[in-house]
Amino acid sequence: MHKTLMTLTVSTMALIAMGCQPKTKTKVVEVPKKDKVYDFAKTSYGDPVNVPVHDTACNSQRGLSLSNSIIAEAYMGVETLMVRTLIEEDVFENAKTKDIVRQTLEYQTINEGRRVYLCRDASIIPENTQEGAAISMKADADQAFSLYETVRRKGTVALPLLKKVYLNAAQKEKEVSRTVDKDDEANEETSYMTDNAVFMGGPSPTLISYPQSEFSRQYKLLGGVPLWTVDGVFQHEFGHFIFESVMDEDGIRFASYHDYVEKNPRLHTFHTPTASLARQAATPGLKAGFVEFIRSQDFFVGSLNEGFADMWSYYTLKQPSTMWDISCFAKSRSIASPVFYNGISKSWDDNLWKKTFTADVKQTPGGSSDDPIESCNQPEFSDIHIIGAAMAHTVDAVFTAALEGTAATSDTSLLKAEMSIAWLKSIKDSNEFDDLGGKASLSRILNTAIGTGMSYLKTTDKTAFCAVVTSKFPALVKRWKDGKTDNEDVSGVVSFCSL
Ligand SMILES: [Zn+2]
Repeated sequence: MHKTLMTLTVSTMALIAMGCQPKTKTKVVEVPKKDKVYDFAKTSYGDPVNVPVHDTACNSQRGLSLSNSIIAEAYMGVETLMVRTLIEEDVFENAKTKDIVRQTLEYQTINEGRRVYLCRDASIIPENTQEGAAISMKADADQAFSLYETVRRKGTVALPLLKKVYLNAAQKEKEVSRTVDKDDEANEETSYMTDNAVFMGGPSPTLISYPQSEFSRQYKLLGGVPLWTVDGVFQHEFGHFIFESVMDEDGIRFASYHDYVEKNPRLHTFHTPTASLARQAATPGLKAGFVEFIRSQDFFVGSLNEGFADMWSYYTLKQPSTMWDISCFAKSRSIASPVFYNGISKSWDDNLWKKTFTADVKQTPGGSSDDPIESCNQPEFSDIHIIGAAMAHTVDAVFTAALEGTAATSDTSLLKAEMSIAWLKSIKDSNEFDDLGGKASLSRILNTAIGTGMSYLKTTDKTAFCAVVTSKFPALVKRWKDGKTDNEDVSGVVSFCSL
């Protein structure tokens, strides 16, 4: 199930013109630039809390509570290494050139781990153990899966059967970042993935939990507990799995999603650590690429993925008024909250639109660069999780408005879960998404959500529904009315709501 080695060459090789200037044609030969042997100055941070195996004697008796799972298989003791090497080529001479850094990313499995065996009653196994992490992850994944199965069996929206998913409990992942700047200053930074959760797609889809860091345990960040004990985190990750499955249904790929995944293979995390944004900001070559990413269609596909995952978690948990009641997330990521921290509205008004399209990446967003934990008094609008949170809140408001008048006995979480997938499918089915730029992509994503709401509308009086549209999407409404739509107005919302 685990890949042994994957190498991605993200950027470029140097181009060297050979010989003197010819009169007719310039002969350009592509030569891979040889790596020098660098003497890296080394720093290290982010020590993970050790996650012990609870029952070391247990090697054969497989516990029922994990083998019961219909689609998940859990592993513990998985260890990986990631080496990222970044060599700045000509950043300072020509900052406008795209190929300003050569970046390689190697991902290696050091230890494949073993399946989780339970020799004791699962309920007495401590949370901060390998088995405890696996049990929590599985319970959350099962819950999210069960909602999916209920929607699929209902049959209103045709959905694929999900593949088997692997669960890697408290995976130990060492990250080595090597940077060489234009002055040949060579630095190496070692850290461990901590305080996060991730979905890795592809042929062996895997949900991964990482240990808590010593730092966050000491300062009681993220509630002072490992993330796998926080309700909703793996329902979110499972949402990414559903997203990929729907976007890949029947082998018909949604090209925009695949472009995004190929270019950004490790973005399906529960949250973006501040340290990684800071690292991007501190390296000119990376920063230039990242700023371009923020404006692009890929960024909005990524944000949609995050917003959908948050929604799936929210509906799985039956729409709690507070979600992820842990530092940094309670307001900004809670779907029920109409504002981010600092009171910035999640409605798509001129302010949010401007922030979205002018967002920069700061060197120290709300904390110091060697602080691996997010300190998010200020939402970071260059983060797909934040834009995704605005999508999730506003789209959920549309779904709520559409279901006004449904019988009090009906399960609105289930209906909204179905609507959220219907929305994804309508995005997938909409033509020419590839050709849209950032603004038009965002517009299309939100417009199709309103279209989904319209098709589920329970009442003949659309006044309340259209009032939500105008209050949650004022900047978009202006855009749609002005006719700057270029294929965005697929749902006919302008005429439906007489905007
Ligand atoms: Zn995510």
